[in-house]
Amino acid sequence: MPRSPRPSAAKALNPLRLDLAAVADRGEPLTGEWPLGQFVRLQEVGEPTQPAEAQLHWHATAEYRPVRGGQPELWLHLTLNTTVQRTCQRCLQPVALSLALERDFLFAPTEAQAQAWDAERDDADVLVLSPSLNLLELAEDEILLALPLVPRHDICPQPLVAPTGEPRAQGQGAQLSPVGAKSDNPFAILAQLKRRH
Ligand SMILES: [Zn+2]
Repeated sequence: MPRSPRPSAAKALNPLRLDLAAVADRGEPLTGEWPLGQFVRLQEVGEPTQPAEAQLHWHATAEYRPVRGGQPELWLHLTLNTTVQRTCQRCLQPVALSLALERDFLFAPTEAQAQAWDAERDDADVLVLSPSLNLLELAEDEILLALPLVPRHDICPQPLVAPTGEPRAQGQGAQLSPVGAKSDNPFAILAQLKRRH
């Protein structure tokens, strides 16, 4: 029977203030669910409300990978599964977007090291190691980056109605400009995310 974790260990394993080195030392994955309602940045103006039962299922593994002639590197492997409601930009009805993401992050001990690795390595998404990593924020960043800039149904549930009242063929002819397109620019959201690094 495993002993119940000591208070200090429990603190280190809080996914909102995660001590990644402690997780790697422990050698066991962490897993859990969060209601999507906890993800403040997902609740954008003009987007449908996430259903109360909607969850993010996450799974995190931290490990030290040996490096020849150097210090071992601290990596995080993160798996995220969820379904996010967005507004279809073709028919303006809610569209459910299923996401299954797998991400690997390399943690640098210092900001300078992170910048150096970021410039010279294309095998890694580099983050600066903090003594208390907020896994929820990191997961939300990845979800926002993975959502399509222009969400659409594969097949819209209702036919579009042209101004004349005639049903309009979908996916044919002139590009439809999204009716009532939101003014918030997806690229501004991306820029905001980039500033995290
Ligand atoms: Zn649609």
